[in-house]
Amino acid sequence: MRRLLSPILCVLLLASVASAWAKVDDSAPEASLVEVYVKSYEDALPLIHLGLDICSGKAGEYYHILAFNHQIQQILDLGYEMRVLIEDVSQYNALTEGKGYQGYHYYDELRTEMQQLASDYPDIVSFHDLGTAWQDHQLMAWKISDKVTEEEGEPVIFFVGCHHAREPMSVEVPFYCLKWVVENYGTDRVCAEIIDNLEIWVMPMENPDGHIYDGYAQYGYQRLWRKNCRDNNDSGSFEPSIDGVDLNRNYTYMWGYDDYGSSPYMGDSTYRGPWAGSEPETQIVMNLVEEKDAYIVISYHSYGEYILMPWGYIYDLSRPTSLRTLLGTG
Ligand SMILES: [Zn+2]
Repeated sequence: MRRLLSPILCVLLLASVASAWAKVDDSAPEASLVEVYVKSYEDALPLIHLGLDICSGKAGEYYHILAFNHQIQQILDLGYEMRVLIEDVSQYNALTEGKGYQGYHYYDELRTEMQQLASDYPDIVSFHDLGTAWQDHQLMAWKISDKVTEEEGEPVIFFVGCHHAREPMSVEVPFYCLKWVVENYGTDRVCAEIIDNLEIWVMPMENPDGHIYDGYAQYGYQRLWRKNCRDNNDSGSFEPSIDGVDLNRNYTYMWGYDDYGSSPYMGDSTYRGPWAGSEPETQIVMNLVEEKDAYIVISYHSYGEYILMPWGYIYDLSRPTSLRTLLGTG
């Protein structure tokens, strides 16, 4: 039988987490991974409407949620049963082999390799700095096409990764996929057709500030940081308990439509920003998409096993669809 977390145990957990937190200078909140049990999909709706980080789950049975202390209390207040899978996920990650982003691209490594590919294949790849995030890190992109220096008016497809800092795999997928297409241009018919007939833009890291904060040793490894590094309260320093905007909640279309899945509160991990399109990172992406009249935009994340469809502001159409469901395998 599953061991469920009683309210008393949870209070003890909160107390232990709170005392550990007091030792951290920058007051970054600690997060736990919890398994929350539901009786049906309808039973889960109040939980879903809390706007929590739901990582995975099985509809009508349970959800795995990355929850900060106050959110665990919110879940318990709604009467759900839960158990803690990982009490302190940051600490868990720090103790795990392969600290930080070893094996993944750090910002500087990504920059070097993106420039190198453009240098190696100058006829079909060009490297572009499209503008800077709050902390002056560049939003870098490849343009990939035959006759890459010319404007041929071909249909534009835009691949973007890493809206969310703590999703490093979302940098790697567009980077390696399109690098492979370039490297096989001369030998693979499909790669040649793609490059000859399309204008492809690839931005593997839309959120360099957040990615650096999340993955670099001097900030502690893998802080589970999601947002960018906007100074929300204009204090002149970065305070993770209050700063940052969720870039994927900042786009102008239907911005602030409701508070399900995006938050008006600065400290929340899904804070949508002070106004629609307020962030330099989202402005750079919107400008590119508009200027190029992009035909398709594919945004990579590594959060859960979902394909999310437009239009995201309508709940029924944006409900996460599990890959297994789409593939008919469960
Ligand atoms: Zn994401």
